[in-house]
Amino acid sequence: MALKVLILGGTTAASALARKIAGDARLAPVLSLAGRTTNPQPQPIPVRVGGFGGIEGLVHFLRDEAIDAVVDATHPYADQMSTHVVAASKQTGVPLASLVRPDWKREAGDRWQVVADTEAAADALGAEPRRIFLSLGRQDLHVFARAPQHHYLARLIERPDQEALPPDLRLLQARGPFDRADEERLLRQERIDVLVSKNAGGAATYAKIEAARALGLPVVMIARPYKPAGVILAEVEACVAWLHGLVPRGV
Ligand code: NAP
Repeated sequence: MALKVLILGGTTAASALARKIAGDARLAPVLSLAGRTTNPQPQPIPVRVGGFGGIEGLVHFLRDEAIDAVVDATHPYADQMSTHVVAASKQTGVPLASLVRPDWKREAGDRWQVVADTEAAADALGAEPRRIFLSLGRQDLHVFARAPQHHYLARLIERPDQEALPPDLRLLQARGPFDRADEERLLRQERIDVLVSKNAGGAATYAKIEAARALGLPVVMIARPYKPAGVILAEVEACVAWLHGLVPRGV
């Protein structure tokens, strides 16, 4: 009997885990996506899309689907989903592991200003108009309408659907990973004064941080929120080992 695993995804780590366990006869995984991206990348394991309906909905899902284990591989800033899954795991007794990417650490030459949230990031840009590169999700862009004096370049996987966006905003549609030389070229060509970023951790989006360092550009770094977790694992391999150590609950 295969172990039924729910993977909460939306990250490169979740996709890496899916690739790693695809075809593993001991596991019967399903990858869950929030549904924010209309054209998500194809996955080698079954996928379900959309919210569960809060903690209660997730508890029902775990019970109805007879899930044996959950892996929270959501983004470090997806704190609501993690709060819900920790609560649902406690209520149902379904074991939970959380894949937690170590954050980026400030290095020599980095000019980071760390702020608490997106609103504080917009306020930190100052009164003088500047050219800002926003490397954030599309759901964060409307916040910068409170600092309309700046010129913004935002890189996104998909166009934002909100209406209240900053007036001087240009969109660049692209999906990572990004190369350091390309990032430097982009920051130079666009004459960017400040980069705004989340501390995502991992290699896929780190090149912009290195590029900002090389060019001596300031970075407004939005701090990670508190994110509850189950058994904390840093690597996909450790997660696979954790799953292999569990037995299906029906056995
Ligand atoms: P969030 O604020 O923690 O979650 C909001 C709600 O979206 C959750 O309560 C849940 O709805 C639903 N949801 C989130 N992740 C889900 C998943 N994997 N499967 C099914 N439902 C999910 O999360 P978010 O910041 O909106 O992020 C949404 C997704 O985008 C996550 O999968 C995350 O990994 C990914 N992502 C986020 C960021 C970011 O900066 N926040 C960056 C890159 C990728 P219900 O309450 O109805 O269950």
